[in-house]
Amino acid sequence: MLLTIPALNSAQKALAQTAAAHTTPTGLDAARMRALVDWTMLTMSTPNPVPFGAEIFSTSTGQSLARAANAVGPQHDPSAHGEIHAIRLACQKLQSSSLHGYTLYTTCEPCPMCMACCVWSNIDRVVYGATIDDAARFGRQIMISAREVAAQTRPATHYTVDGPVERDRCLTLFTNPVMKNVFRQWNAHQD
Ligand SMILES: [Zn+2]
Repeated sequence: MLLTIPALNSAQKALAQTAAAHTTPTGLDAARMRALVDWTMLTMSTPNPVPFGAEIFSTSTGQSLARAANAVGPQHDPSAHGEIHAIRLACQKLQSSSLHGYTLYTTCEPCPMCMACCVWSNIDRVVYGATIDDAARFGRQIMISAREVAAQTRPATHYTVDGPVERDRCLTLFTNPVMKNVFRQWNAHQD
């Protein structure tokens, strides 16, 4: 018997692909996020305490490729957010501008700049801890969700965003007493 399947128009295809781009965070995701929080917490006793850490793993083998914290201050680089820092390290290691086959974990939902960089890198999946709303309680944020950046990408393909994962644990990075003065300094430069 011959089945006739009506062709999807491009808008229907985009919707179908966007709808497919959601997975359920796993116990492995939670374990990786907890380890990333512990590592990021180590910055509290350094000259550059930050609540933002990111790590990139091979989606298939689970091997860690790169891990980085926000380095805006020490690098005098407003684009050196944890995610972009990790993406740069990962791409240098691979000698490639593509992170297809990789998954990025971040202690806080990527800002639009970082999520755009995730899209440009063709990374498989992004898993975040605290949300942009959470981070906005502590300082300036651009209130566009990572999912929204992914959803507005054309052609819509495989940009999967999962989270929050281990949100409360990630929030302990923001509420660490060391961060109080740091946030005060960051916010003082916003006038
Ligand atoms: Zn960012």
